Amino acid sequence: MHDPAHPSSQAPGSDTTASPHPSSPPPATTRRRLLGGSGALAAGAVGATVSRGSAAAAGPGRGPGPSGVLDTAEWPDGPGRPLRAQRADRELRAIMAEVDPDRIRAIVEKLVSFGTRHTLSSQDDPERGIGAARDWIAAEMRRYAARSGGRMSVTVPSYVQEPASRIPAPTRISNVVARLEGSSDPGRVYVVSGHYDSRATDVMDATSDAPGADDDASGVAVAMELARIMATRRPAATILFAAVAGEEQGLYGSTFLARQLTEEGADVQGMFTDDIVGSSRADDGERDRRSVRLFVQGVPTSEDEARAATRLSIGGENDSPTRQLGRFVAEVADPRLTGMEVRLVYRLDRYLRGGDHRPFLEAGYPAARFTEPAEDFAHQHQDVRVEDGVQYGDLVRFCDMDYIAGVTRVNAAALWSLAQAPGVPRDVVVDTTALTNDSTLSWSPGSGETASYEVVWRPTPEPLWQHVVAVRGTSATLDLSKDNVVLGVRAVGPDGHRSPAVFPFPA
Ligand SMILES: [Zn+2]
Repeated sequence: MHDPAHPSSQAPGSDTTASPHPSSPPPATTRRRLLGGSGALAAGAVGATVSRGSAAAAGPGRGPGPSGVLDTAEWPDGPGRPLRAQRADRELRAIMAEVDPDRIRAIVEKLVSFGTRHTLSSQDDPERGIGAARDWIAAEMRRYAARSGGRMSVTVPSYVQEPASRIPAPTRISNVVARLEGSSDPGRVYVVSGHYDSRATDVMDATSDAPGADDDASGVAVAMELARIMATRRPAATILFAAVAGEEQGLYGSTFLARQLTEEGADVQGMFTDDIVGSSRADDGERDRRSVRLFVQGVPTSEDEARAATRLSIGGENDSPTRQLGRFVAEVADPRLTGMEVRLVYRLDRYLRGGDHRPFLEAGYPAARFTEPAEDFAHQHQDVRVEDGVQYGDLVRFCDMDYIAGVTRVNAAALWSLAQAPGVPRDVVVDTTALTNDSTLSWSPGSGETASYEVVWRPTPEPLWQHVVAVRGTSATLDLSKDNVVLGVRAVGPDGHRSPAVFPFPA
């Protein structure tokens, strides 16, 4: 529905058409009202009356379909209109058009040319090892930054990791970070990363060839290609494009990056790691060039006991900030523009695996992982060799550069849409001080320029937001029982960009 080119078609209050729902009493007597016009929270505050007229557009009650399967979306009905996906603005379309598979190929091939990028490999050999890779990535990022008019800066923050799991001797861990400063809300930060370290079969083997084309030169290529394309642009919020080290040894680089951001007091509202996004071919040979998985954790591991207990008691297990981030990506990454379908997976990661989003989750930030649809385990974490006629090893030839370009466009849609939208509303609460059959929500403005808000809601068994109610001010009462649906609040920017939604906790 949203088209920034025509903001007037999206004016808040456009849901105030007064045609009553066919099966409900006239608006004058209906209990189903939205009281949000004045921004006052007090129950009974006079505001615009919103009928459920548009609920009819969501589809009439259909009952069980021919297959006998119940359509859970049909109950309950309520205020608002069906949520239609936000559309890409003109600049995002231009960004996506600039994603170049040939440049992605050049990055992946260059990274592979360093022989190994093992975290324990040489840091000062100019040709082989992780140090050469680090210096090349930094030089390349600085070349991009030179076109940014001073808005992008490149640093190589590092620290010495003392002996620990998979680190036998003190080892310098270096990240390469290109920071594109937000033009109007620089304190709000989004991160996209890939890890530039690689490994062979033995995770402690720092000398054998470890090409790491898919794992994870592909993810580094996504972050670098986005840095190149966005360097000349002016996102409202800050975006960090990072290549981190130490992933295979134990997420050391990403842990360091998350800690640095916490110490800086950065308001990190979204992080994506692209890790193993290089191949569209599964181990059985089947190809799926149009899917990318996005792993999004449910119950946050960072919440304290009281908060977690409340979340459990109110059925908030499926509504962590990371799940909202996943729903946001599914909404903004238009397959007609990206060429890709985002396959949300409602879990932290694949079985037995980990990734650089984990330290961000542990730091309390929404964070998610992009990964190809079906992995070929002969082509990751394997010594390069032929065995029984089978080629093992993470070689460039198994990568699909057009596929990586598609993943890059998905990341572009996510990051640009986040950075151009206002920050998420803060302190979103639902009033539970008395037993009622309606829902009163209130919140505080987040950062960034906000024009209005929207309440989104869905039946509890539904995975994605389904309905949207426009609101002015920072509170709203919906004639819709909080007991029966999941509610959320999102901010709307002056150009119509929407933030991710926030799930309310009891006041
Ligand atoms: Zn990896």
